[in-house]
Amino acid sequence: MTELTDPADPGGRKAELAANLAQVEERISAACAAAGRKRDDVTLIVVTKTYPASDVRLLHELGVRQVAENRDQDAAPKAAECADLTDLRWHFVGQLQTNKVRSVVTYSDLVQSVDRDRLVTALSAAAVKAEREVGCLIQVALDAESGARGDRGGVAPDGIEQLARLVADAPGLRLDGLMTVAPLAGEYAGRERAAFERLMDLSTDLRRAHPAANMVSAGMSADLEEAVAAGATHVRVGTAVLGVRPRLG
Ligand SMILES: *Cc1c(COP(=O)(O)O)cnc(C)c1O
Repeated sequence: MTELTDPADPGGRKAELAANLAQVEERISAACAAAGRKRDDVTLIVVTKTYPASDVRLLHELGVRQVAENRDQDAAPKAAECADLTDLRWHFVGQLQTNKVRSVVTYSDLVQSVDRDRLVTALSAAAVKAEREVGCLIQVALDAESGARGDRGGVAPDGIEQLARLVADAPGLRLDGLMTVAPLAGEYAGRERAAFERLMDLSTDLRRAHPAANMVSAGMSADLEEAVAAGATHVRVGTAVLGVRPRLG
């Protein structure tokens, strides 16, 4: 038997990523069609955490323009290695300690995990110092409502308004919308669609005071269909594009 290998892609990694991307694209398109939404209304963000900069580069060659990372220690060197890809946007989606903020604002266009006052203050100071404007999503912990809150960060729904006002008034920051991760426990456990619909309602409330904050980031590899059905504008997909991560990330 002969193996067909592309000399320009010896490990076949680019072909593998291309096939996975095509499958994810098909899922998003089908979900948009089922929901009566335009495909353009949903943006795919590829979560590249735990995967090397070489994969980011291949994804860029395949047309990906938005990637996400969740740990500054991994993301900062990766972003530096890819600094020549000037049209690539980096999202930060992990729990963020204030001592990492100065680094994160140097490469992140958007921080999706804004969940407390102190983080806003630190992000604002760092963004001003770096002469950057950083987009912010308020991360919502939907399980905080039932007291079953996990350890993945996020502010309870009743804290969104106050935090949003703080971001909107902070120099160097731009309030872009809301983000959530489907809860594993509490009243929304196993009810991703209901969780994402609740996030959409919270987004409607937010947009009354902040009309431009219209991003809704929800849905991952396992539940992107539910997120698109509920109205998400951005889905964050890792495993389905890059493969099962070698370690928890
Ligand atoms: C890892 C991660 C994702 C992607 O998850 P997959 O299940 O691999 O698609 C999305 N959002 C956040 C916040 C993540 O940490």
